[in-house]
Amino acid sequence: MAATSSRTPAPRGAGSLPGAPATTLVLLRVSGLRVAYGGIQPVKGISFEVHEGELVSLIGANGAGKTTTLKAITGTQPAAAGEIEFMGRNIKGQGPWDLVRQGLVMVPEGRGTFQRMSITENLLMGAFVRNDAQIDADVEKVFTIFPRLKERRNQLAGTMSGGEQQMLAMGRALMAKPKVLLLDEPSMGLSPMMVDKIFEVVDEIHRQGTTILLVEQNASRALQLATRGYVMDSGEVTMSGDSQQLLNDPRSHFFDLMQTGKMAEALT
Ligand code: ATP
Repeated sequence: MAATSSRTPAPRGAGSLPGAPATTLVLLRVSGLRVAYGGIQPVKGISFEVHEGELVSLIGANGAGKTTTLKAITGTQPAAAGEIEFMGRNIKGQGPWDLVRQGLVMVPEGRGTFQRMSITENLLMGAFVRNDAQIDADVEKVFTIFPRLKERRNQLAGTMSGGEQQMLAMGRALMAKPKVLLLDEPSMGLSPMMVDKIFEVVDEIHRQGTTILLVEQNASRALQLATRGYVMDSGEVTMSGDSQQLLNDPRSHFFDLMQTGKMAEALT
């Protein structure tokens, strides 16, 4: 079946980045998505789109339903209602492996690296869907983006720091040649210096042409990189739009205050 990706008006900023194609192709479309765990409904009918070449950020506080949304997209948690389209095809109900083959690749919260394998072996595992002659060259490309991984190419993943494991998980995802890369809170639990490094690399991967959906609690950092953003609160999308517009909205700043524990300070 041929993909029938739809076209919509160009989002502001799309195509203006080096390496990002000037296109309005919708790669990922989520419409009216609902997810339930028994009687709890953490995702209550949300809709959003990611266009080719964009870096879209889905931001929200703890428990807003961001991870559950990604789980529904990648088929690890069933959707109770709604549609999920990737490159114009309905992918609802498909499992993560099938989706990776099609180019929808997620770096989960907690990273999920193969602890007893070396860095190089982990990266090669990321290419399990491929059967081409470029795999070794692409390992070298990943090493260019993450020089720290190159230095430690033979080290076991389980002995690496949290930030290094995040880099490895992202590098492994890139080895699958994603059409859309889903990143679930890549800055979670990292030192401030490592957080800076991770956001720098997310920006670099985007600039090199990868379309990204970045899920983050760190609203201002995520929106500084993003083309557009969606704000989730209690399972609903409460705000969306151009990143700059969202950055200037005091309600987005609210999430950063919560994350850094400065909320009480801000309210006094
Ligand atoms: P965080 O940033 O803390 O990861 P989040 O926005 O990603 O938050 P989710 O992890 O999607 O939020 O959780 C949304 C809600 O669903 C929370 O109230 C959470 O307790 C609940 N939840 C998540 N997983 C399960 C589960 N397996 N069973 C029952 N409830 C769950």
